[in-house]
Order: sequence, then structure tokens, then C-alpha cells
Amino acid sequence: KAYYDCPPDSMELGRNTWSFLHTMAAYYPDSPSTFEKANMKTFLDSFSWVYPCGGCAEHLRKHIKKYPPDVSDAEKLSKWLCNTHNEVNVALGKPKFDCSKVFERWRDGPKDGRCDYAMSE
Ligand code: FAD
Repeated sequence: KAYYDCPPDSMELGRNTWSFLHTMAAYYPDSPSTFEKANMKTFLDSFSWVYPCGGCAEHLRKHIKKYPPDVSDAEKLSKWLCNTHNEVNVALGKPKFDCSKVFERWRDGPKDGRCDYAMSE
């Protein structure tokens, strides 16, 4: 059977998009400039209008309105995104992720080095 890539469904799109968003937050600067902060705010706002899952995007816009993204540094942005993702997890009946492990999951990998092949700048 020939290999064929199918268009993503909302689950696959969600998984891939969370990977991108959490990685972006983990690699955000510790001391962002005014320009970097403004870019991140603009990006998240625009993203919440263009994400190609209508209901998901609408929920995200409501969430952003109630809890504006904290773009002060990588840790705060990562925590904000982790809480945002957890709200979706809860709505879908999935367990909450432990937000103290967000850098281990998305940037540093576990201490035993099993993920040392992962992206480094
Ligand atoms: P995902 O939830 O995709 O998570 C991928 C990986 O991220 C997990 O394996 C885990 O290692 C890690 N992770 C999990 N939680 C966190 C966290 N809180 N912080 C950091 N890392 C974490 N689907 C809907 O049906 N309805 C919606 O309204 C909806 N809204 C969405 C909004 C956005 C912005 C996005 C990007 C996706 C949305 N989705 C929605 C898709 C949904 O969140 C999942 O991506 C999809 O159900 C696949 O889930 P999954 O179990 O593979 O893991």
C-alpha cells in the first residue's frame, strides 16, 4: 500500500499546534524587549482569530479576554499557556498537566538524558 499523508483532524492539529505553542513559549526570552513582548501579544491575539478549528479559536478568544497572556518572560508565558491548555484538558475530560514540569516537557527534557537528541537552538 502506498504511503499517503492525510489532512490532519482536529486532534492531530491540536497536538501539533500545542507542540509549537509550548515550544515557542519555552524558548521565549527571560528578559524580552518591548518589541518582543508586543510581537508575542499580537501573535497570540491573531492566532486566536486564525486557528482553523472555529470552536477552539472562539474558546481561546474568550480565555484571552478573561486571562490576558502574561508575556513578561519565558516562565510566565509558559505557565499562562500551560493553564490555558489545562482549561481545554478539563473541558475535554483529560487530566491536568503539572505546570511545574513545563520546561522539562518542552525544553530541557528529563534529567536522565533520554531526550538529549531533542531540539537545542
Ligand atoms: P494534547 O492535549 O494535544 O497535548 C499534547 C501534549 O502536550 C500531551 O501529550 C502532554 O505531554 C502535553 N500537555 C498536556 N497538557 C499540557 C499543559 N497544560 N501544558 C503543557 N503541556 C501539556 N479540542 C476540542 O475538542 N475542543 C476545543 O475547544 C479545543 N480547543 C483547542 C484550543 C487550542 C488553542 C488548541 C491548540 C487545541 C484545541 N483542541 C480542542 C485540541 C485538544 O486540545 C487536543 O490537542 C486534542 O484533543 C489531542 O489531545 P491529546 O490527548 O493528543 O494531547
